[in-house]
Amino acid sequence: MGEISSSSNPKQTVWWENATFFVAVHLAAAVGIWHYPLRSTSWKTLLLTFVLYRISTFSLTVGYHRLYSHKAFRVGPAVATAIALGGASACQGSIKWWALRHRLHHRYTDDLVHDPYAATRGMLWAHMGWIFYKTEYERMALLDREDLDKDKVVSFQHRYYVPLAFFSAFIAPVLIGRLWGEGAGAFIWAGLFKSVISWHSIFLINSAAHWNGVQPYSDEDTSRTNLILAILTGGEGNHNFHAFPYDFRSGPTPLEWDPSKWIIMLLHAFGLATNLRRARQEDLNDAKQHMMLKAYIDNESIEKLEGEHSVEHPSWTIEKAQEHAASAARCLVVIDGYIIDVTAYLKEHPGGAAIIRKYSLRKPQDKAKDGSHSDVDPELWKQATWAFSGGLNTHGRPAKRRLREYTIAKLAEA
Ligand SMILES: [Zn+2]
Ligand SMILES: [Zn+2]
Repeated sequence: MGEISSSSNPKQTVWWENATFFVAVHLAAAVGIWHYPLRSTSWKTLLLTFVLYRISTFSLTVGYHRLYSHKAFRVGPAVATAIALGGASACQGSIKWWALRHRLHHRYTDDLVHDPYAATRGMLWAHMGWIFYKTEYERMALLDREDLDKDKVVSFQHRYYVPLAFFSAFIAPVLIGRLWGEGAGAFIWAGLFKSVISWHSIFLINSAAHWNGVQPYSDEDTSRTNLILAILTGGEGNHNFHAFPYDFRSGPTPLEWDPSKWIIMLLHAFGLATNLRRARQEDLNDAKQHMMLKAYIDNESIEKLEGEHSVEHPSWTIEKAQEHAASAARCLVVIDGYIIDVTAYLKEHPGGAAIIRKYSLRKPQDKAKDGSHSDVDPELWKQATWAFSGGLNTHGRPAKRRLREYTIAKLAEA
């Protein structure tokens, strides 16, 4: 079942431009540092290198990742512009390019075909192997992307990405370094070397953070939490938080090393970031408790203990459910034979409300009455189980728990 066929391998060809640029910057940085070693570099240039490195990486973790990929908070045009410029200086693609691939990574984590950075394809692939290939992701078309397409700053940055990246990553450091007569040194250190370390800091999140560390929240995918990686990646190394991507934090407690979260909180304190989203504490507690139980008892006993679908639900026919959805204006979906009222959850859904509505129950005559609705297949509700369990997103335990919470009836056998 499914809307599209799935091949065993993604279609990919070598991306020569990207590969050449990536290798060339590494070589140029190495040769540059050979000729312009640390001991002959002024502290001003080294400080500039550190500051530009932090600007580029935090623009990615706070901006590209938490703001744009996961809509974890909102900002005004000034902060958005700063993120667009700072992010361009990291030379990792435009916001749009990056966020869409990251959304794929979350929807299909570890999937050999659909996850662009699948750790299951090996650490080298997850870290930087993907950079050498132009890949066609057949499921890209199924992603929610309206927010990115509509955003003026995102569109501008996407359109002028190459000149923006070139200027902010390589020209700007030279102009600044010239202020103290060290243009060449600034190009090598704050331009080339900074690009290399900022690349690998961010790439560690796709590679090492899916390989080494603890799993306090979930073992449903390879994501892991590792303090050393958190320190190296601006907090993103607390990566086992994968199941709660819309949370502006990478960990809920003040103990977690998460400077990206602290920056967002600081922006919030100055009124520059609003609508900070957090996962529900009860979901976090449940995830943690589940993982603790797993350490001591087998899955079957845990299932009994946690009582999956242990509540008795009334039995409804599909007609009754359709009638209820229409008359009470509720958004109902049928997943695994259960009728679930997700109306209260629509606004919260990380993938947006439109996609749930698309797979929700509607009366068969809705289509016939109004020709304008003819693009929505009234039978699509039958594919909601497929969409939920891997077709459109490999939903984890917290999402399944939510479904149980919103279940109102069991679908009567036809
Ligand atoms: Zn990940
Ligand atoms: Zn993410």
